[in-house]
Amino acid sequence: MIIIMLGAQGTGKGTVAGLLSNELNIPQISTGDIFRKNIKEETKLGIEANKYISKGQLVPDDITVPMVSDVLDSDETKNGAILDGFPRTIEQAEKLDEILNKHNKKVDLVINLVTPRDEIITRITNRRVCSNQHCKATYNLILNPPSKEGICDKCGSKIVQREDDMDEQSIKNRLEIYDKQTSPLVEYYNEKGILRTEEISERINRLGKEVADDILKDIKN
Ligand code: AMP
Repeated sequence: MIIIMLGAQGTGKGTVAGLLSNELNIPQISTGDIFRKNIKEETKLGIEANKYISKGQLVPDDITVPMVSDVLDSDETKNGAILDGFPRTIEQAEKLDEILNKHNKKVDLVINLVTPRDEIITRITNRRVCSNQHCKATYNLILNPPSKEGICDKCGSKIVQREDDMDEQSIKNRLEIYDKQTSPLVEYYNEKGILRTEEISERINRLGKEVADDILKDIKN
């Protein structure tokens, strides 16, 4: 099964994808996480990608698409994948169809997460992630803080703030790019009849866990 997570930064794509991945036993493939791992390890790909990521810009397709293609061609995703952060443009969505076609696969479900903009900003500025690349647990200092300040509940490593979340201009750029380049994907997948839109908001007391539980109920039925 191939699932795509859509939604602006800070809506909870990573959280919902992680919950679905555990229950469905298919890997969560986050392009942002792959880039951050490469940046930390100072690989050629990481150094190149960081020129764009640090400014909140999209990494060009000639870097991003082959990277995703490699993962989707590998054994790791032979039973499916939950794509978190890809595609981000119509062009990437078309490339994704080509890659999946080679394996006689298609996108089965697109989950579109919607959160009010003021809540998004608070979520991004309070987002913290585990520094252990193998753990990748995410926290929110208000909604979902770790039990011990600064320490990951899951693996005991330090929790940190993503560099691109520290910079106000980068947050603004990323939301602008989402509105201009990524949000047209909502209509693109709606036309294909595979879109499921879910509101995530504190105001209606509906967070990632509730949304993931409802989606899982429907998938398993
Ligand atoms: P994320 O963790 O999904 O917020 O991604 C962090 C950053 O990685 C983004 O702001 C982009 O600079 C870059 N990135 C992640 N996925 C893509 C993609 N599909 N296309 C281009 N750039 C991406």
